[in-house]
Amino acid sequence: MNLFKERKMLKKMRLFFFSVLALVFVLTPLSARIVHWRLAMTWPSTLKPLASPPLEVAKLVKQMSKGKFIITVDGKEKHRAPFGILDMVKGGMYQMGHSSSYYWKGKDINTVWFTTVPFGMTPSEQYAWFYYGNGMKYMRQVYDKFGVYVFPGGNTGNQMGGWFKKEIKSVDDLKGLKMRIPGLAGEVMAKLGVSVVNIPAGELYTSLDRGTIDALEWVGPGMDIKMGFHKVAKYYYTGWHEPGSEMQFYVNKRAFDKLPKEYQTMLITAMKAATFDMYVENFAESVEAWAKMKKEHPEIQVKTFPKPVLLALKKATDEVFSEYAAKNPLFKEIWADYRAYMKKARAWSMMMQYYYLKMSKDLNITQ
Ligand code: CA
Repeated sequence: MNLFKERKMLKKMRLFFFSVLALVFVLTPLSARIVHWRLAMTWPSTLKPLASPPLEVAKLVKQMSKGKFIITVDGKEKHRAPFGILDMVKGGMYQMGHSSSYYWKGKDINTVWFTTVPFGMTPSEQYAWFYYGNGMKYMRQVYDKFGVYVFPGGNTGNQMGGWFKKEIKSVDDLKGLKMRIPGLAGEVMAKLGVSVVNIPAGELYTSLDRGTIDALEWVGPGMDIKMGFHKVAKYYYTGWHEPGSEMQFYVNKRAFDKLPKEYQTMLITAMKAATFDMYVENFAESVEAWAKMKKEHPEIQVKTFPKPVLLALKKATDEVFSEYAAKNPLFKEIWADYRAYMKKARAWSMMMQYYYLKMSKDLNITQ
């Protein structure tokens, strides 16, 4: 065989080989191929329980797909853009994201409804609104323009009102108080004369210790204990401003629509399971953390703001909401729907939970 024939033969063989490969690729069902996704979250990978839902979803879909649907989770330490999550998922740099809706209030004020709002619903009420009321419908509507599908992604439960170095006895005590309190609650506090400051998480403890700030809010005992605030402020106020903070999963629409149906189902199922688990994990961590704090720091006083302070906070909240509603028709519509649902749901929450807890307190049954 001369060189020319040999080359021709080789060319034919190569063509045949690649044709077979292409045929195999086309005939292989999509579900048999490995799908590799990336997820970016606002939190560092070690910040549990906030970082738990994405890691749990990655673990579950890998198991359910027998290793064929892989999600790599990048924490803040990797992508360095904790508040760029929505943009990165929208742009397709990441197929998925995990963050909290109210961080995007600068993009659209209506995103606040899907985290929590001051004097709003408890987690049970809010989940009922999401899954069986109009919550998910509005969430999809608000996020449609960002090119993402959005799903609940874990709840912190009712957050504590924060750590204060001095007791708050009247509305006047709030005037000039320097406090770290973000979001809508910060806008409400500002109306009452609080000087609202924004300090990076890593500097909060020192700021509180040195008196650069007089108060701050974080989450609840489970997450607060890791920050050490209980060592430098002794008044721990009960919550009013974040009664059920929900995280969210964001999924790029094009990426999701391209997934085989069974992978879509796996993903949705895994997100729902991880969402429930974060709520439970955070509850359990707070159970342990509060028992430890109370024992090691008996000087901590759990307080509820006096009624005139709470009434002033409620009035300021209504003012903030009314101002947004006047400018934004969708805000007005969601607010009306949210309020109507909360009214119905609260009646049942009171019968189901409040009176049971009140009875158990009256009878001292945990003694
Ligand atoms: Ca908080």
